[in-house]
Amino acid sequence: MASRDENQVQKQVEEETQRIGRELWGHLERRRPSVFERRWWLDHILEWAMHDESVKVQMFRFVDVLPMLRSHESVTRHLQEYFEEVRSHLPLAAKLGLDVSTPNSLLGKALALNARTNARKMAERFIAGESVEEVLQSVAKVRKLGLAFTLDLLGEAVVSESEADAYQQQYLDLINGLAPAVNNWPENTTLDRDETGWIPRCNMSIKLSALDSRFKPIDPDGTAERVKARLRPILRAAREHDAYIHIDMEHYAYKDLTLQIFKEVFLEDEFRDWPDCGVVIQAYLPEARNDLEDLLSWVKDRGTPVWVRLVKGAYWDYETVVAEYRGWPCPVYQQKWQSDANFEEQTEFLMRNHEWLRPAIASHNLRSLSHAIAWANVLEVPQQAWEIQMLYGMAEEQQQLFAELGHRVRVYMPFGQAIPGMAYLVRRLLENTSNDSFLRHAYDTSVDVADLLKAPQVTLSP
Ligand SMILES: Cc1cc2nc3c(=O)[nH]c(=O)nc-3n(C[C@H](O)[C@H](O)[C@H](O)COP(=O)(O)OP(=O)(O)OC[C@H]3O[C@@H](n4cnc5c(N)ncnc54)[C@H](O)[C@@H]3O)c2cc1C
Repeated sequence: MASRDENQVQKQVEEETQRIGRELWGHLERRRPSVFERRWWLDHILEWAMHDESVKVQMFRFVDVLPMLRSHESVTRHLQEYFEEVRSHLPLAAKLGLDVSTPNSLLGKALALNARTNARKMAERFIAGESVEEVLQSVAKVRKLGLAFTLDLLGEAVVSESEADAYQQQYLDLINGLAPAVNNWPENTTLDRDETGWIPRCNMSIKLSALDSRFKPIDPDGTAERVKARLRPILRAAREHDAYIHIDMEHYAYKDLTLQIFKEVFLEDEFRDWPDCGVVIQAYLPEARNDLEDLLSWVKDRGTPVWVRLVKGAYWDYETVVAEYRGWPCPVYQQKWQSDANFEEQTEFLMRNHEWLRPAIASHNLRSLSHAIAWANVLEVPQQAWEIQMLYGMAEEQQQLFAELGHRVRVYMPFGQAIPGMAYLVRRLLENTSNDSFLRHAYDTSVDVADLLKAPQVTLSP
């Protein structure tokens, strides 16, 4: 590669991106009615929300509070309170619903039941189940579709030691309960092997902050000790059962500490030669390249490769609002094209260093994914040496298409209870209905594929 002119290579990658993107789009368009309309947008609710920002805000407020509402009466009262403010923006059927006399009347109860059922259906779209049995059924279904999985136990802010213990225990139960069954499945070469040999089927994603009720960046060493003490038993169980552990990335404030703990624990003698682990890098952070370079020199010293899941980042609104509120510099890019461009640069970096930092390219954006395939093709990275990752319940036709084309597609499947699940659901709904979301643009039937596939820098408006 070094002898080829760099501009030539970039040009070749861009041409390849366009070719692949158009080909994929052609396949997707033929499947469009089932993907982009009926199955995806539940009960037209998301459609109303997308057309009107004020309805969207009230809907998400309502979904967020719903699990806390114990009686039908309080559900109906909240519905009326929240949606009364935007009544004139609602379709007729919804207005009639709001008019149901008193909250504890028969009609009021029916309305509450309907709201709960719809919210549950929405959550079920994105959440794989509550118990080990339900999760096993869901992962088996996903496997039948030719897809690999990674499981994530839903949970936001752990506030007590017993909650952190419970989080650890649930992962131990899941590994012990799931891995033996999953490891007995018949072989699927695309999913079960990379270019060098077997890879684990049972794949878990973990949030480090949930392993300590005092996860504090101002006390990095104390936090790291407590987190590692809860993490090691999970890693041991995973090794014992041939499972894989991935460390998720959370808010910016936790990033450096998460990377520190990741590097410390996987450099310990017990885990140093273990390849079945990885971490996340977020491309909405300008710091992504520095972190990747740092990881590359660390992994070479370690001597055993790790996986890197490249994402754009799930906390964009949060980071922006918090920085503005505190008067701090904002850690994330402020323009969508910048995150897209950085994602592409870091994709190239991973593909060039795939033997050490094994690329897991996580996106639903056809341009970002076509660009990753283009780099892999141009650099002749074997198809089995990297994978595509997508979220459960999102862009399902794309998942299927990439799998049919021979890629290993891993689906990120959250599981757990409804209350922590609602925060996750609201993040997904925000992401899907955001003006900047790729999926939202792809849903618009008038969209031109040339626009969807434009290089991020070209999209830059003056
Ligand atoms: C398998 C998987 C695992 C994941 N794990 C994690 C994780 O551990 N941690 C995590 O943070 N996220 C994680 N994510 C979520 C991921 O970050 C979002 O799904 C992703 O950002 C959506 O990007 P996209 O390429 O699919 O869509 P696109 O529509 O192309 O991009 C949307 C993204 O662009 C960015 N963006 C939006 N508006 C702006 C703006 N104005 N300026 C700058 N940037 C903007 C945001 O990051 C937004 O999410 C994961 C996603 C997948 C698929």
